[in-house]
Amino acid sequence: MSNTKPACKQRKSSFLASLLLNKCPRCRKGELFSNKNPYRLGKVFDMHKKCPCCGQPTELEPGFWYGTGYVSYVLCVAISVFNLAWYWLFIGLSWKDNSIFYWLGINTFFLTVAMPVLIRLSRTLYLSFFVYYDEETEKL
Ligand SMILES: [Zn+2]
Repeated sequence: MSNTKPACKQRKSSFLASLLLNKCPRCRKGELFSNKNPYRLGKVFDMHKKCPCCGQPTELEPGFWYGTGYVSYVLCVAISVFNLAWYWLFIGLSWKDNSIFYWLGINTFFLTVAMPVLIRLSRTLYLSFFVYYDEETEKL
């Protein structure tokens, strides 16, 4: 399969960069999502059926994306723990001055604002559990 799209001619990204940029885990070049902006909320779930560069199917089986709920949960817990750590260190937590409720508000706001990005990141991460980088796609 030869592809003439400019994005497919670029060098592959590193594993971490391909995760953060929502690239195909097999070739690390093709976009997984049809719209790059995650904050276009009506299109946050719109994915290509196949990678535009290597042809890797994105939905491996019916209901494949249900597993991303677990990945998204782990990401949200990790971010909440990180937010708790910096808040505790720099501001402090106490029931007496209601600072724990301010942390809850800040954390909820942050997770809500980051949710479209986290949805896409969890899908890319979940797909990378099952699809590994293939050097042969470099020649496509
Ligand atoms: Zn690909």
